[in-house]
Amino acid sequence: MNRHMMTEFAQCLRRARAELHRTVAQTDEELATLEEHQPGASGEDVATKVVTAVLSRLQGQGKHELDEIDAAQTRLAAGTYGICEGCGMPIPLTRLRALPVARSCMPCQLEHER
Ligand SMILES: [Zn+2]
Repeated sequence: MNRHMMTEFAQCLRRARAELHRTVAQTDEELATLEEHQPGASGEDVATKVVTAVLSRLQGQGKHELDEIDAAQTRLAAGTYGICEGCGMPIPLTRLRALPVARSCMPCQLEHER
């Protein structure tokens, strides 16, 4: 995966995250705090508390989606994004474009679900 593709997927994940933020934020202030907060930022500051409180409203599918986006962003940062967790081969771009948070290629996914 080249730098250009990494940028494309990084933007895609940020957009998906922003959409989830909009579903849980009740005020512009909350939304701004969510947008500014960087995933993985350390510390017990006020922003972290607000983010934790707001995101706790996410339930079920939304929570799962955010976790998957988090995990995908972590893989991007670690340089393992787009590598199948099952077989270690690159995940086809068509699959990543359809599902940017995909952890595995289609055959491994199907194998996993069986
Ligand atoms: Zn695979």
